[in-house]
Amino acid sequence: MSDCDVLVIGAGPGGSSAAYWLAKQGLSVIAVEKKTFPREKTCGDGLTPRSVYQLEAMGMADFLSKQHRYSGLRAVAFKRDMELNWPNHPDLPNYGYVVTRFDLDAAVANNAVSAGAKIIQGAEAISVTKSSSGQIDSVSVKVKASDETLIFRPKFVIVADGSNSRIGRQLGVARDRSLPMGLALRGYFSSPMSNDKFIESHLDIRTKDGEILPGYGWIFPLGDGRVNVGIGLLSTLGKWKDVNTTKVMEAFVEQAPKRWGLSLSDPLYTPTGGKLPMGFSLGPRSGPNYLIIGDASGAINPFNGEGIAYAYETGRIAADVIGDAIKQNNFRSLERYDRIIDKRYADYYAVGRAFVSLIGKPIIMRSAVNLGIHSKTIMTPLVRIMANLMREDNKGLPEFTYQTGLALVKLKNAVMSKKF
Ligand SMILES: Cc1cc2nc3c(=O)[nH]c(=O)nc-3n(C[C@H](O)[C@H](O)[C@H](O)COP(=O)(O)OP(=O)(O)OC[C@H]3O[C@@H](n4cnc5c(N)ncnc54)[C@H](O)[C@@H]3O)c2cc1C
Repeated sequence: MSDCDVLVIGAGPGGSSAAYWLAKQGLSVIAVEKKTFPREKTCGDGLTPRSVYQLEAMGMADFLSKQHRYSGLRAVAFKRDMELNWPNHPDLPNYGYVVTRFDLDAAVANNAVSAGAKIIQGAEAISVTKSSSGQIDSVSVKVKASDETLIFRPKFVIVADGSNSRIGRQLGVARDRSLPMGLALRGYFSSPMSNDKFIESHLDIRTKDGEILPGYGWIFPLGDGRVNVGIGLLSTLGKWKDVNTTKVMEAFVEQAPKRWGLSLSDPLYTPTGGKLPMGFSLGPRSGPNYLIIGDASGAINPFNGEGIAYAYETGRIAADVIGDAIKQNNFRSLERYDRIIDKRYADYYAVGRAFVSLIGKPIIMRSAVNLGIHSKTIMTPLVRIMANLMREDNKGLPEFTYQTGLALVKLKNAVMSKKF
């Protein structure tokens, strides 16, 4: 039997961020992680300025300085390309990094340990028991090496067990199936362009027969001789589940610009895939003494499939809320978590979900991409909106475009619910 202030289930980006920020407040925090670091995690390995901001806030600038830094996004479609630097922003950096999750997650977990958190690796949370009031009483954790089961009775629990979230499901967390979901596949390739200063997004991915699909393909340079290549598709595509993602990936690799030197016979290439729960499509996100964060809450940005930043951010918010609840000895204050998440993301994610529904219609997708790839005036604000890099202090075209989108979404919602 083990006690602590907070037990964190999962030590990926969300769990390690939560553990770090809890430890920084001097709380006793234990994270259990079913794998042993360093471990592979299927991902595009792309860190945008939002992720970099969170990592630097956790004191990881030194680690990042040794990784492959890039300066912006190259959008590619219909045989044209356009390079767009990350914009200047008063808070966020104007650069990103590409770092394998093998290296990144181990470093972020170690950083949490240095801050005072305890992480038990090779330890899988298998079940929770709840009281009649819905509070988590205990968490059973199976330790692989010793085959023993530890029982934790923490004051608070943070569930950060990722997109398959076994513990979330036990707690009754479910996906709103009317909201979009993503599916992605990635693999590594050796490439002569591994040091490229741009990450590349292909907005016109298609089947072998040339049919354009809603989603995008990416080539992210790792700076170590490799690139991370992948495709992401959206559930707004009609027969989504019938699409053979491996075949789409193969078509993407074969059609990719020759300069990357990609080959399907590359021995590095062993594709793996995963789900992208997006737009806060999962809930409820909180209970009497627990909070759900990161992918387990569907926190991925629906505009671009980015989830690392949002796992760090929700982890940090959860740590702040729990820290306050402990200081005030007031469990009810956990309700603040939902209010903060709604205030910070609800509008933006509503526009993102509307965007995803729109581009799910092939004709709209094709026309929008065709228009955008011919005009920097369109692409510049669009990229700033999609990567959530808008400014509060100096509003311009991106912010105006976004506000117009938000007004339209709100109008549509009001019409649908007949609330004029
Ligand atoms: C193909 C693909 C490409 C992507 N590319 C990008 C990208 O380029 N950039 C980006 O920002 N996002 C990307 N994402 C999304 C990103 O990977 C996720 O949003 C992010 O990993 C979420 O972090 P998390 O901590 O919530 O979950 P995870 O990273 O999944 O971490 C959960 C952790 O919990 C552990 N765990 C699970 N169950 C238990 C249990 N019962 N007990 C103990 N431990 C447990 C797991 O081992 C894991 O370490 C991509 C996703 C996919 C599938």
